[in-house]
Amino acid sequence: MAEFDLIALIAERAAMSRNDVVVGIGDDAAVLAVPSGQQLVVSTDTLIDGVHFLAGTEPASIGWKALAVNLSDLAAMGASPAWVSLALTLPEADEDFVVAFIDGFVALAAQHRVALIGGDITRGTLSITLTVQGFVPEAQALLRDGARAGDGVFVTGTLGDAAAGLRLVSARQSLDSSDAQIQQRAQLIERLDRPTPRIAAGQILRGLASACIDVSDGLMADLGHVAARSGVAIEIDADNLPASSALFDQVRGDERIALQLGGGDDYELAFTVPPQHIDAVTRDLAKLGCGVTRIGRVVDGSGVRALAADGSEIVLQGGGWNHFA
Ligand code: ADP
Ligand code: MG
Repeated sequence: MAEFDLIALIAERAAMSRNDVVVGIGDDAAVLAVPSGQQLVVSTDTLIDGVHFLAGTEPASIGWKALAVNLSDLAAMGASPAWVSLALTLPEADEDFVVAFIDGFVALAAQHRVALIGGDITRGTLSITLTVQGFVPEAQALLRDGARAGDGVFVTGTLGDAAAGLRLVSARQSLDSSDAQIQQRAQLIERLDRPTPRIAAGQILRGLASACIDVSDGLMADLGHVAARSGVAIEIDADNLPASSALFDQVRGDERIALQLGGGDDYELAFTVPPQHIDAVTRDLAKLGCGVTRIGRVVDGSGVRALAADGSEIVLQGGGWNHFA
């Protein structure tokens, strides 16, 4: 297949109309209408074969995840997603791969009404770069620098599933498992392959949270960015970390806590809330059904500390994911 056939295939399978797309795929550049009173929020992420997904990952899951990790950044800003562009680097013009990839991508794009507005195709090692764009009302973006001593620290959903899923996929173990075990393991791997960006939660947090970040590299590492940017310290109560029942059953005790504190790829939102907004946050997020848990507090000082029930500090071996470590 030639480059232009691939572009036509992508444009056809990803077609979705939004009336703020004045010119979409097909010209030298897209032309987009930004609503008045809104600010544009833009984020780019790259996924590379063998680094961000393992060999053997379904192409449809790669398409879903590529978009999910980008939408998660918009969620962490409290933005409403609108547009995405897609730069694909492929080892060869593999139509089957592109079809499956785009179908996974579109399954998530349709959920959030995100239109594909352009991109690029080049030849090389499989890699995917997305730029997503969305809106927030003027000056209402959720930033990393607003946490203050006395704020509560919260997280949506559950933590640790994706890291446990990655361990399962890497180990390829599962021979003598019962059906229930297989099902739980599949749930953990599903969280790794098809994360849920917390778009609605992020929008609810506008005007309520003092700082917000999405958990991509690991809770400790990501809250470390909030602490540093805000000039505060964060204490996490390790006993309060929310775990799915699959994680609870499949990974025991200390190991589970380590995955929850250090494991990446969950794409939950971690955020801080001033005392006067805590009731509103817990009430409004409860309505969404994604779950929200208070996991700690903001205090004076610097850095992030995880505490066991007896108050002793938990020290992680290795910490979060760092590409250049
Ligand atoms: P140019 O040579 O001007 O960069 P291209 O041939 O790369 O143009 O792209 C032609 C049109 O197809 C543009 O509108 C571009 O945004 C779109 N396009 C190219 N690759 C992709 C892709 N992977 N996904 C979506 N649109 C794409
Ligand atoms: Mg081009």
